[in-house]
Amino acid sequence: MAVDVEVMLRTPQAYSVTRRALDLLESHGVWPTALNFELWTHLVADPEGPLAKELNRLISVGEPLTEAVTEELAAAFLPKARLNDQIRDAGDLLSKELEAVAKAITQAQASNAAFGRHLAGASKELDEPQDPKAYKAIVSSLASATRKVQRENRSLEQRLADSTAEVDRLKEHLEQVRRDATTDGLTNLANRKAFDEELERACFEAEESGQPLCLAVLDIDHFKGFNDTWGHQTGDQVIRYVASVIGRVGATPRFAARYGGEEFAMIFPAESAGAVARVLEEVREEVSSRQLKRRSTNEELGTITVSAGMAERRRGESGHGLMERADAALYASKRGGRNRVSSADPLPHAA
Ligand code: GH3
Ligand code: MG
Ligand code: MG
Repeated sequence: MAVDVEVMLRTPQAYSVTRRALDLLESHGVWPTALNFELWTHLVADPEGPLAKELNRLISVGEPLTEAVTEELAAAFLPKARLNDQIRDAGDLLSKELEAVAKAITQAQASNAAFGRHLAGASKELDEPQDPKAYKAIVSSLASATRKVQRENRSLEQRLADSTAEVDRLKEHLEQVRRDATTDGLTNLANRKAFDEELERACFEAEESGQPLCLAVLDIDHFKGFNDTWGHQTGDQVIRYVASVIGRVGATPRFAARYGGEEFAMIFPAESAGAVARVLEEVREEVSSRQLKRRSTNEELGTITVSAGMAERRRGESGHGLMERADAALYASKRGGRNRVSSADPLPHAA
C-alpha cells in the first residue's frame, strides 16, 4: 500500500524519519534545502515508492543531484508540485482553446465581410440593365458565394461546439484539482487551507450582515496514548470516525474541517452561542459513548473522548482572533479534565 507521507509526518515516527532524511542528505553531500529535505523525507518514509526508486537509481548511477534534477523529481513525484503542474497544464490548454476560437471567429468575420462585398457588388451590377446570360452568371456566382459562407459558418459553429465541450471538460478537471487541494485525504473533510479561507469569508459576511458567528475547535483526548497502544493505522480509523461525526453535524451552512492531526474545527454561521454549545455537547456525547472496534479483528478498543472549545465572534473580530479565543477555550477544556465543551464567552443558559 502506498504510504501517505503527509499523514505519517504527523505521527510519532515523524521525528526519526526526518532525522534519518537529514543524516542521508549529509552523508550524500546534498544541501538540506527545503525541497531536498522534502524529497529525502519521502525517500525515507516510503522507501518502496516511485520517488525513492528514482532517487536511488540516480544515486546509484552517480548522477549529480543538481537543482534542475531535484526540481524535476519534485515536479514528477511530490503531490503539491504535481497539483501546480496540473493547474498550469489546464491553464495552457484553456488559452490554446481560446486562441483557436478567436482565430476561427476572425476568419468567419472576414469571410462574412467578403460575402457582404460580393452581395453589394452584385446588387450594383443588377441595377444596370443586363442581358440574360449576365444575369445567370451573377446569380450563379451569388449562389456559390452563399454556399461558401454557409460552409464557413457551419464550420465555425462546429468549432465553437467543440470548444465549449473542451472548456467544460477543463472546467470539470480544474474543479477536481481544486477539490483535491482543499480536501483532507484521510477524512474527506475540508483541510486547514480551505478552513482558513472559509473562516475569513464567514467573518466578513457576519460583519456585513450583523448575524452571529461561532467557531469551535475539537481535539481528540490523549490520542498519543491511543496510537501508542493500538498503532497508527487504527489511530487513523479513529480520526476517520470522529471526522464522520463532525462532518455530519457540520453540513452546510455550517462548515467542518480537519484542522491538523487529531484536531478539527467548525464554523457555525447565524446560530446563537447557546445552540452551538448544545451541538458540541451532542458531538462530545456521541463520540464518548461509542464502543470502538478494530475493523480488521473486531477487537474492542474501548472508548475515546474529545474536548471542544468555542468562541462567538465579537464585532470587528478577525478569524485569527476568533481562533485564538476558541483555542484558549479548548485548552480550558483540556485543563479542566478533558471530555468537555468550554466557551470563551459566557453562555446565556448552562448548555
Ligand atoms: P491531549 O488530550 O492533550 O490532546 O493529548 P494528545 O495525546 O491527544 O495530544 P498530543 O498533541 O500530545 O498528541 C497528538 C497525537 O496525535 C500525536 C500523534 O501521534 C497523533 N496524530 C496526529 N496526527 C495523526 C494522524 O494523522 N494519524 C494518527 N494515527 N495519529 C495522529
Ligand atoms: Mg489531542
Ligand atoms: Mg492536538
